[in-house]
Amino acid sequence: MAMLPCSSEQLIDAFGPHLNFEPPGGFAARGTPDRAVETHCCFCGQQCGVKLLVKDEKVVGVEPWEEFPFNRGKLCPKGVKRYLQNNHPDRLLRPLVRSGRGFAPVGWDEALDLVAERLARIQRHHGNDAVAVLGGASLTNEKAYLMGKFARLALRTRHIDYNGRLCMVSAGAGNLKAFGIDRAANPWADIAAADLIMVLGSNVSECSPITTDYIWRARDRGARLIVVDPRLTPIARTADLFLPVRPGRDSALLNAILHAVIRLGGLDLDFIAAHTSGFDALRQTVEGYAPERVEALVGIPAARIIEAAALWVQAPRTMLLHARGIEHHTKGVENVLACINLVLATGKIGKPGCGYATITGQGNGQGAREHGQRCNQLPGARDIEHPAHRAVVAERWGIDADELPGKGATAPQILEKIHGGEIRGLLSLCFNPMVSLPDAAFTRAALERLELFVAIDFFLSETARHADVVLPGSLQEEDEGTVTSAEGRVIRIRQAVQPPGEARQDWRIICALAERLGRGARFAFQSPREIFDELRALSAGGVADYSGITYEKIERQMGVFWPCPTEAHAGTPRLFEGGRFAHPDGRARFHAVEYRPPAEDVDEAYPIILTTGRVVSQFLSGTQTRRIGPLVDQYPEPRVEMHPRLAARLGIADGDRVRVISRRGELRLAAQVVQTIRPDTVFIPYHWPGEQSANRLTVRAYDPISGIPEFKVAAVRIERLEAA
Ligand code: SF4
Repeated sequence: MAMLPCSSEQLIDAFGPHLNFEPPGGFAARGTPDRAVETHCCFCGQQCGVKLLVKDEKVVGVEPWEEFPFNRGKLCPKGVKRYLQNNHPDRLLRPLVRSGRGFAPVGWDEALDLVAERLARIQRHHGNDAVAVLGGASLTNEKAYLMGKFARLALRTRHIDYNGRLCMVSAGAGNLKAFGIDRAANPWADIAAADLIMVLGSNVSECSPITTDYIWRARDRGARLIVVDPRLTPIARTADLFLPVRPGRDSALLNAILHAVIRLGGLDLDFIAAHTSGFDALRQTVEGYAPERVEALVGIPAARIIEAAALWVQAPRTMLLHARGIEHHTKGVENVLACINLVLATGKIGKPGCGYATITGQGNGQGAREHGQRCNQLPGARDIEHPAHRAVVAERWGIDADELPGKGATAPQILEKIHGGEIRGLLSLCFNPMVSLPDAAFTRAALERLELFVAIDFFLSETARHADVVLPGSLQEEDEGTVTSAEGRVIRIRQAVQPPGEARQDWRIICALAERLGRGARFAFQSPREIFDELRALSAGGVADYSGITYEKIERQMGVFWPCPTEAHAGTPRLFEGGRFAHPDGRARFHAVEYRPPAEDVDEAYPIILTTGRVVSQFLSGTQTRRIGPLVDQYPEPRVEMHPRLAARLGIADGDRVRVISRRGELRLAAQVVQTIRPDTVFIPYHWPGEQSANRLTVRAYDPISGIPEFKVAAVRIERLEAA
């Protein structure tokens, strides 16, 4: 049983998080760096170019990489301070096994033998699917591919999924349904060239800061800006029109905007006729969403909705951008489809400065989902349930198509199956569900039921504390590979230093385990380049076709946009030019979306909407950023944002300690009274664990198509505890 091996306090004492700062005088005081390595930030899906400074085989600082075209040297606070995780005192340096009083170090052979033997034992007694694999969406494409192959070929389990399930899956599913392909339709350069930008559910200034620069470049040319968000985020403060939507009502609002567009005569009927199907059903549906009818539901006056429609219709070139704010819902896919309906109905896609993009959150949120880590997808973004797709992969892997496992459980479903006793063994690589999944008490109870939990990670995350065996893996700067940025641009990650101590590159660990499980011949890779060559060859003819991308070409072009079907092909920065979509008939699909309420709406007992999200100085579950001193100093602990009107009603002043209570649990934290949020909504960032975890409050409710949790709406009540 994967209970904690000792108290949390003892584990924190031994493994952190501890804060790392520059030494007095700074690293520069130690002399000129030996080299600067051009690579990318390890955090968000923007994947900014950065130069890592290396001295004595340690990363000691950063410099801007001004030639890299995406960010042209600009970085956010996380990118500037990321180097402080290398050479960090909390790094895992040796394999560890659970002992009577915590963890004891062991040699690699002992650890790998133990893992292979116990995984095999569980599968012998309970079947192959009694073991599951969880991966991370910050892994390189090479590692993501390897994880999928390892699960399906070495473990022969169908249960593999990844933490992108908490990030991009609603956008991906919506894009696939509407366009037949799951990738940002436009390169970010098109944002700067637009005449109107509509941003929905994205706090771009904090969560994807470099995108802000593209928006400002458009604004400098006179572009207009519409922001839809329950919070007056920093970017919203600069908007021409701010629509403070009530959380969970986005699809109704988008239908109302399209209703107004139709009234204004803004449809592009030629485009609809030539390049789409399904518009009649959509038109019928949006007839019921007159702005005057939905204004009370969405919390925005009809006049403002009509104004948004008019701005959209009048602008020759528009870009619509969205992120988790509209995707983290039980109707996340429907919200995405409602955005796409607006873009398609007005023919505003597939042109310079005109189109649509979803803003990927995680570092390799795009690539990590394309090459086989997802429970329903095979490499090349192939469909695991499609016989022809299965046949291609099976042949390449040298197995019969019948041997290839089918669709497995999503990451949250894997936790449910562990809780129910169906899955008994778990191997995870860089996934911290103790912080990132909803209803943290349930996640903990599930982990505690495991017979075997193996965690590969570079720090002992809150989840890895529950492991039976911990295998020390590598940071991004300790390995080679590629990732695919939010734009769909495949870029090179370059190794700057070796992993410290006895830590190993993750792909070597996976290959060594495959060998012990009797599949070594299929995992005889000597380098990430060899894995990439297998991946790209296998992707040929798939939706995400990387076959024409080589490491050399990426370096020459500063990235290659997929699809790229031949080595002579330059890549595809902009999709859908000429109105040609990726469905077999070349047409995009409209989807009529009826508004549905959130899974848990407010009521008398829990009258306030809780919505969760991020702050600029922290990243996701904080495994890395909660160890970097200057980032923690910038925002040391979670606070609950609330509007002065709500605060006054509850008798709360700025800084007071309060109790936020949902049906799952409660959280004690300080109130931050701000004008920048709806009075019926409170906001808590989710980067912290345990007693500070916003996910003690969130609800285990999922989108039926994408499986994404509803992080953006839960019902809570708030009580004042003590004055500041
Ligand atoms: S966190 Fe994102 S925006 Fe910030 S530097 Fe890194 S990649 Fe760029």
